[in-house]
Amino acid sequence: MSAVLAKRSGKVRSATSLIHTQRTVRRSVSCSGIGLHSGQKVTLRLKPAPRGHGIRFRRLDLDGLEVPATVSHVARLQYATGLARDEGTVETVEHLLAALVGLGIDNVLVELNHAEVPIMDGSAASFVYLVHEAGIKSLSAPRRFLKVVRPISLSRGDKRIALYPSDHFKVTYSISFDHPLLRYQSRTMRVTEDAFIDEIAPARTFGFLKEVEMLRQRGLALGGSLDNAIVLGETGVLNSSLRFDDEFVRHKILDVIGDLALVGYPIIGHLVAHRGGHALHASFARKILDNAEAWRLVKSEAEHVAARAPVAGPLQGTVPAS
Ligand SMILES: [Zn+2]
Repeated sequence: MSAVLAKRSGKVRSATSLIHTQRTVRRSVSCSGIGLHSGQKVTLRLKPAPRGHGIRFRRLDLDGLEVPATVSHVARLQYATGLARDEGTVETVEHLLAALVGLGIDNVLVELNHAEVPIMDGSAASFVYLVHEAGIKSLSAPRRFLKVVRPISLSRGDKRIALYPSDHFKVTYSISFDHPLLRYQSRTMRVTEDAFIDEIAPARTFGFLKEVEMLRQRGLALGGSLDNAIVLGETGVLNSSLRFDDEFVRHKILDVIGDLALVGYPIIGHLVAHRGGHALHASFARKILDNAEAWRLVKSEAEHVAARAPVAGPLQGTVPAS
């Protein structure tokens, strides 16, 4: 199956199992676009990085100030996920982070000449294309996975998010809005590299026409258009077509994958979210790290199996292996 997929795409894909070694991009690649919120033109470059480096942004317009993509650097969370360090910010990082995590890229330097990551077509497809153009390089260092062994949950009003033990990284997301097209959408999927590329990465961000004016008055969505977002009018979408019938909930899965990249480890667990947004996702990323008794770091499939724990069982030392 892997061989067939690799032949089809011309790229190395991991169809089913975990990627066990850290990865980076093979060579530098760049793209240009505009920021969704700032409307500013920006050039983004992905550069190879060594093992253990993680995902870091570098602001070329701020003397090379670096901002790591970690929970401790989360800043603005209004309608996008922003990071900050000292006086420097990096905005709207979530779709790029989703593409990097979705393709198993652990280490990369992301250079920008402006604060906001370009929105491209509103999905992660352009970033997947960019990584594939660069090529993927395996590094001689094991990956460490965050294996969930006890449930972790967070809710705010009717917004909920939780992680449960599972043998794979799975996401169940549901949304409901006061709009005829979006009364309720739900999707569950196991997030493999292939599933991410084919079923999640192309799903575009979306917004409501009635909110556009309010957002612009607040200095947001200045670069937004039908070229980079699905726009919902009173009864339907203003764009000519959707890429999937449930493109909206697929995009929420994309967003949460990107936001949980801030945890710093690929997750083995079942993420379940209802009506979440960037603020809830980022708070949850912090809560995961704060609840160290609810997970273990594992390196290999064997360790992953050994870390399986009964839901109410003892956690340390005496956990049966099946
Ligand atoms: Zn998004």
